[in-house]
Amino acid sequence: MLAELGEDPSREGLRDTPKRVEKALRFLTSGYTADVDAVVNNALFTVDYNEMVIVKDVDYYSLCEHHLLPFFGKVHIAYIPNGKVIGLSKIPRLVDVFARRLQIQERMTNEIAETIREKIHPLGVAVVCEGTHLCMAMRGVEKQNSFAITSAMLGAFQSDARTRTEFLELIKRPDVGPLRRSLLRAEHDLVETPDPFG
Ligand SMILES: [Zn+2]
Repeated sequence: MLAELGEDPSREGLRDTPKRVEKALRFLTSGYTADVDAVVNNALFTVDYNEMVIVKDVDYYSLCEHHLLPFFGKVHIAYIPNGKVIGLSKIPRLVDVFARRLQIQERMTNEIAETIREKIHPLGVAVVCEGTHLCMAMRGVEKQNSFAITSAMLGAFQSDARTRTEFLELIKRPDVGPLRRSLLRAEHDLVETPDPFG
């Protein structure tokens, strides 16, 4: 690829670039080999709780499958338990499983929602995903379209407008969840390798 771009692959700054790019791409697509069951199965709990559970502002970084350029942003997830919950710290890891692939934002949003439905059969699942797409932003002409919002509404979130509205209002409020968010991030950081690219 370097030679094709008119570069000299043997110059000092580029000598290890193929190795580094390979390592980076393997990490950024590690979701293909991640095991969803291993991520969530030891964190499914039986509970007597049927209020909406919301995890908002989960950061993600993904690669668009059309240009192999990043898109990234935040995912907000909610579900209404039906006897089972997923450990809160597993939700960002579940997002990583689907973000670390070649993706389109719409599919990623659906995959997260469907996986939660499959794992705990809740009364409803909602996923809203915000993404900035570098493949559009960097090309200038389409700048105004570089931000996209996608959503997947299943079960009660689809059939009940009030439930859906409650969720959408809650994710808009900046005062909901900063503590939970920092706790999640702290936990999340513990399981991350400090320098994934080595
Ligand atoms: Zn793209």
